[in-house]
Amino acid sequence: MAKRVYQVWKGSNKFLFGGRLIFGPDARSLLVTISLIVVPVVIFCVFVARHLLHRFAAYDAGYAILIVAIAFTIYVLVLLLLTSSRDPGIIPRNSHPPEEEFTYDTSAQSPWGGTRPTPSLQFPRSKEVIVNGMPVKIKYCDTCMLYRPPRCSHCSICNNCVERFDHHCPWVGQCIGLRNYRYFFFFVSSSTLLCIYVFSMCALYIKFLMDEDYPTVWKAMRHSPASVVLMIYCFVSLWFVGGLTGFHSYLISTNQTTYENFRYRADNRPNVYNRGCVNNFLEVFCTKVKPSRNKFRALVQEEQPVPPPMVRSREPESESPSEPRSKVEDDLEIGGELLKISRRRDSTEIDEELGGRSSNGMHNEAELASGLEMQHPSSRPDERDASWGRRSGSWEISPDNLAKNAN
Ligand SMILES: [Zn+2]
Ligand SMILES: [Zn+2]
Repeated sequence: MAKRVYQVWKGSNKFLFGGRLIFGPDARSLLVTISLIVVPVVIFCVFVARHLLHRFAAYDAGYAILIVAIAFTIYVLVLLLLTSSRDPGIIPRNSHPPEEEFTYDTSAQSPWGGTRPTPSLQFPRSKEVIVNGMPVKIKYCDTCMLYRPPRCSHCSICNNCVERFDHHCPWVGQCIGLRNYRYFFFFVSSSTLLCIYVFSMCALYIKFLMDEDYPTVWKAMRHSPASVVLMIYCFVSLWFVGGLTGFHSYLISTNQTTYENFRYRADNRPNVYNRGCVNNFLEVFCTKVKPSRNKFRALVQEEQPVPPPMVRSREPESESPSEPRSKVEDDLEIGGELLKISRRRDSTEIDEELGGRSSNGMHNEAELASGLEMQHPSSRPDERDASWGRRSGSWEISPDNLAKNAN
């Protein structure tokens, strides 16, 4: 039976309801976040708001306090779900490197140090594009096999390239990117207001108690410990969500992402996206949310096997320090992809090359890759069928192998 896109998804995401909702791999933390909101509000409703119900006899304002608290909490939770359960702006992966970027390079030496030059295809690891009249360097993503558009970055937790990547939020359990940034901001700012609201109402209740039977603030607090606990909790939370609201207000006003803010400060780079405070706010809040580029529920199209591409990087990629994803991992992954393709095409040839190492089919890809690598020094170049040379973050397949595969 044909599978759906979300069932063969290569990122680390989790899906719910048959691919209708997409979460990050750490979606469980969402339950913690929800309980950090819901539990205090329930305590507030039961131990504080309930006692305020009849304090404003004239206008039924006491009921309004309770209703506002519940309605506002629901609003915050909806924003939280809108942030965490939808595509943040994932760019679909390519199944093979961009062929239009390949150039044929005959000057390269063979990886095993032989004299015969190995013609190989290569493509640049980074390119320059012009944004608002300024050159911006974009990088090639080995995992997604694409050139990341400006402001796009690869989330190491979700293992996807995300447009206008801001950060991966562990509280929300999702990347914050182009498609959910505004909901994230509304969520954080609304949480701040909820904190202020609960704090104020608790203080009001203490004030009412002092006006009645408890003349000092200490006596009033001892009568309602729930109010005290809630006020402390809201005060501490306020530093967190209030600080985030302030920080993101600043980022929006200057049209930066969190990621860029850290990078720009480190690299002393100019911000090419700043279009003036008002326009920056309009860009975030008053533009249409771009439709998702992924159809998670669509049926997977059977792809024709493509010949393994001959890939060699022109320059070693300098990964940013803020991307903990290790180079080796990438290489293994590409190697794995190439191996998979080649295995599909002609598994017996590779088996011969490996001296039957993988004949039982039980070896994993890393093992295969290391097996291939170990063969290099001993094998004679002339008789090679398949050779993957791992050098400076690149994979190379000799043309002989390609020719043979093409048969
Ligand atoms: Zn990527
Ligand atoms: Zn992420």
